[in-house]
Amino acid sequence: MKITRTPPPKMNLPAKAVVGFVGGLSLYFFTLLGIQEAANLSLFQEKIKSRAELEMIGKEEAGKLGLEKYAIEYIYDDKETSMRKYTDEGKYKLGMTKFMATRKNVKHELYHLLKDVEGEKNAKPNFPRYFFVQEPRATLYGIFGIKL
Ligand SMILES: [Zn+2]
Repeated sequence: MKITRTPPPKMNLPAKAVVGFVGGLSLYFFTLLGIQEAANLSLFQEKIKSRAELEMIGKEEAGKLGLEKYAIEYIYDDKETSMRKYTDEGKYKLGMTKFMATRKNVKHELYHLLKDVEGEKNAKPNFPRYFFVQEPRATLYGIFGIKL
């Protein structure tokens, strides 16, 4: 009698590639988030304490990026996380919660305004582009002032 053994199932190459990719993606994502959180919690981050201060720092930082020609409305409340968007009235909005309001985060959102918001006006959300291009780019500028 011949005994045939079926070999234990092996992951084929595409499955390994998928596992590797998802693992790498999670590592990447948490590293990116971790860098931002570490910077948020850093003692060197001075909190912005009012809407007026947010607007003052926003104008100063917008000037450094050549954004002074845009009408930017500054919102300081706890309704949304830090955000930037283009409104149908042709204005930009830059919002900060009280917890998130720091110069670093203002710079981060302004860099999105400079680089990303025009392209987002009429386009569908593009998450790979957001996570691999827009978010790291704005994070580098926000924390280190590096323009990519
Ligand atoms: Zn961002």
